[in-house]
Amino acid sequence: MNTIDTYNFAGKRAIIRVDFNVPLNENFEVTDDTRIRAAIPTIKKVLAGGGSVILMSHLGRPKKNNDDKFSLSHIIGAVENRLGVKVQFAGDCMGDKAAEMAAALKPGEVMMLENLRFYAEEEGKPRGLAADATDEEKAEAKKAVKASQKEFVKRLASYADCYINDAFGTAHRAHASTALIADYFPTDKMFGYVMEGELKAIDGVMENPQRPFLAIIGGAKVSTKITIIERLLDKVDSIILAGGMTYTFAAAQGGKVGTSINEVDMHGVALDIIKRAEEKGVKLIFAEDALCGNQFSNDSDTLVAPVNDIPDGWEGMDIDVKSKKLFADVIKASKTILWNGPVGVFEFPKFETGCRVVAEAIAEATAEGAYSLIGGGDSVACINKFGLADKVSYVSTGGGALLEYMEGKELPGVAAIRK
Ligand code: AMP
Repeated sequence: MNTIDTYNFAGKRAIIRVDFNVPLNENFEVTDDTRIRAAIPTIKKVLAGGGSVILMSHLGRPKKNNDDKFSLSHIIGAVENRLGVKVQFAGDCMGDKAAEMAAALKPGEVMMLENLRFYAEEEGKPRGLAADATDEEKAEAKKAVKASQKEFVKRLASYADCYINDAFGTAHRAHASTALIADYFPTDKMFGYVMEGELKAIDGVMENPQRPFLAIIGGAKVSTKITIIERLLDKVDSIILAGGMTYTFAAAQGGKVGTSINEVDMHGVALDIIKRAEEKGVKLIFAEDALCGNQFSNDSDTLVAPVNDIPDGWEGMDIDVKSKKLFADVIKASKTILWNGPVGVFEFPKFETGCRVVAEAIAEATAEGAYSLIGGGDSVACINKFGLADKVSYVSTGGGALLEYMEGKELPGVAAIRK
């Protein structure tokens, strides 16, 4: 398999799938260019090797074609700033201009295609179906978009001599630019540095962790985290199960949880997880006390209660003093730490201190030599909010992709390069 470090880019045009799905403000300025910065080493490597670059990405979720709000033209300046090289903008993905521009690219030059998701073919899903479309019409529309997707992929591939996938955040999607295009480059395909880094970090944690290995799984609901929890039971020494799911576990064991999140249909699953953890010798750690609110807002009144004895009308929204100490002590005694999902409603300052304590304890453990991997949109937002991103070992760019990869699923974007 080729890698970005072994491939000879001299005189080659590389089409790179990057993740430039960055936030823009109302003036269409990039407010956080983390993802652009992340892609720069890969682009520079190709240019330094004597190649030229065609960048492709999606931006947001445009519902119609050519919706200027989602045009990648808005971010050209931000990319040029970080790259220090002029970036030519093709204005579309399939038009004559894109093809001509790509054909005329000289070594050292960079161009960017328009938002891939302006084309239904990128995702291979039909657009603009009437709300009352029949199943037959839906099937027909799907067939049509799948047929034109082949042309779309072929056209993108025709622009380049080699393909680099550097968009981990979309690697769990079998889209035109993330997976299908790789078939046109049987040997001239490879991961970029972002992808390489992500896979190495996750593989390292899942396959070869230093022990004790602790996972902290938070977030709102058990239902979205079952598969990852089950997989982790075979890998870790202990799991802190926190956030909203605390109360489903407490209620399943007969606790009173007030108006806290309580997925009643998950009680059986929760009890099963407890039993399986016992069988496998994995320690499950739950919060003991909750900081509760009487409304889901930052203006809420608060009271502290045991997680299994919350008064009616009150909702567990953060951990309190005892749990903070309990969590911090476990974190500081661990050598590998994986954190996915906040332990409280950190979006409200009144309920953010649990997440802050967790983030600080992870930073401290990392300084003492532990390896820490933070992943999943919200925990990344947490670590950034507290300014601790550079105090942990690795912050993953993947949300859904990270979870699916950790669950042991084959990601189409990864498989397309490896096969
Ligand atoms: P997830 O996408 O499942 O990781 O969930 C993230 C969300 O979980 C965040 O928006 C948090 O506000 C929310 N969350 C964390 N703890 C709680 C809680 N105790 N009650 C309700 N929501 C919570």
